[in-house]
Amino acid sequence: MARAFIGLGSNLAQPAAQIQAALHAMTQLADTQLIAQSSLYGSKPMGPQDQPDYVNAVVALQTSLTPHQLLDALQRIELEHGRVRKAERWGPRTLDLDILLFDDLQFSDERLTIPHYGMRQREFVIYPLLEIAPQLVLPDGTPLSDLQHTCDVNGLIRL
Ligand code: ATP
Ligand code: CA
Ligand code: CA
Ligand code: CA
Ligand code: CA
Repeated sequence: MARAFIGLGSNLAQPAAQIQAALHAMTQLADTQLIAQSSLYGSKPMGPQDQPDYVNAVVALQTSLTPHQLLDALQRIELEHGRVRKAERWGPRTLDLDILLFDDLQFSDERLTIPHYGMRQREFVIYPLLEIAPQLVLPDGTPLSDLQHTCDVNGLIRL
């Protein structure tokens, strides 16, 4: 079994309810257990500012899926929750599920980069992760707790 951390985000169609529904859907995944979940957080949009604020959370999963099987499963949940892929980068969405970490794996291919390339800079990832895994060490040896010194809170609030 591997331990994976997933970042959740939504800013359309009742974002908090979208996150709760995604949490429920993840508990239903085959060969996977939800082992921890953070509080919900409110955050400012990245990139285009002409969109609503986000609701975010992170969870820890225990899974015997491979990273690519897990991505397939998470993308299926996104689609089932009304995700429509648009051209605009970082545009509004009903549900976004990113694989942040997968055990101590470090790799990149056409579909998947692990650890997630943006996680160290994103307050809506770092602070919820600190809530559920304060002792976490990233695959390159960086303690998660070090990142709060370089990651601005940027208006993040615990809901
Ligand atoms: P960002 O990746 O900057 O958070 P985004 O989440 O809006 O932006 P998406 O449109 O949801 O980007 O995803 C684009 C592609 O990223 C996906 O089709 C997927 O193949 C790829 N991808 C690469 N690494 C990951 C990862 N760790 N978790 C989820 N998707 C990933
Ligand atoms: Ca399950
Ligand atoms: Ca826009
Ligand atoms: Ca994302
Ligand atoms: Ca994504």
